[in-house]
Parts: sequence; structure tokens; C-alpha cells
Amino acid sequence: MSKTSPWHSIKQNVHHNNTSCKTGNNIEPENLRSGTGGKPLCKECERLK
Ligand SMILES: [Zn+2]
Repeated sequence: MSKTSPWHSIKQNVHHNNTSCKTGNNIEPENLRSGTGGKPLCKECERLK
């Protein structure tokens, strides 16, 4: 369980901040952006924190 700086996918409506998040780790590099994108935290990251 480690916290890192937020990232998000341009294809998703949420951002991630936990490296254990499966959804966050499955983002394809071409869709990956750093920062929150102004989107809410993903449910899985929320649970993992
Ligand atoms: Zn997540």
C-alpha cells in the first residue's frame, strides 16, 4: 500500500493515487496522464488508502 502522486486515464471519469489499484495500473500508456484531471478519486483507490 503506497501512496503516490495522482494520475488518471483520459478514458475514465476518475483519478487514481494508489499503486495497488488494478484499474489504475491497467491504464494504457497512451491514455495515461498525470494529475487528477479534476476528476474524483476512484472507488478502489478510496478503499485501498
Ligand atoms: Zn484507482
